[in-house]
Amino acid sequence: MKLRTVLLFGAPGSGKGTQGRILGAIPGFFHFSCGEVFRSLSPDTELGRIFLQYSSQGRLVPDEPTVELWRRYLADSERAGRYHPESDFLVLDGIPRNVRQAELLADTLDVRAVLHLTCADPEQLVQRLQRRALRENRLDDAHLEVIRDRLRTYERETRPVLDFYPPDIRHEINAAQPPIAVLVDILQILRRL
Ligand code: ADP
Repeated sequence: MKLRTVLLFGAPGSGKGTQGRILGAIPGFFHFSCGEVFRSLSPDTELGRIFLQYSSQGRLVPDEPTVELWRRYLADSERAGRYHPESDFLVLDGIPRNVRQAELLADTLDVRAVLHLTCADPEQLVQRLQRRALRENRLDDAHLEVIRDRLRTYERETRPVLDFYPPDIRHEINAAQPPIAVLVDILQILRRL
């Protein structure tokens, strides 16, 4: 059985995490944030160290350990009774983040919608990330140079993932709106699934 999935897609700062957390609170939706799971790893573990090394430079963690971590986390969530694949939509935020990851996940996922949060003005993204750095004490948001590297990584490696999925399931959502307006747009798409 493939997992019924909705992808939250967009640049760092586009609001994937904010929307994902809200959707994850709705019965029948299970939110997985790849960045959050990485940040929850102890820096004493091998993968925790690898994560810090890459994320502090605005780079992506290598694909195999990333996909392995994802599979393990979902299996644990299912065992713990938090995720019910037969009835829940999986809301993925931050994975797949390049074409190779999309290929690795293709056998497992039945992607029903790709919600592309778009923002015409990259400076707005930079400002949001700088505000988040203050609020959440995130190393990768703290330096302007790392933020710019992350935005470049997004353009180079992540944006091409969009073309991996058929145009009829892709939806553009204006992420420059206030979060509640973004949510309304997303819910209108999800209720039709
Ligand atoms: P943002 O969306 O603001 O970039 P995330 O919390 O999604 O933040 O990710 C933070 C960091 O975690 C990324 O810069 C990257 O180093 C790592 N990361 C998260 N998801 C992935 C992934 N799917 N593949 C590789 N690295 C990832």
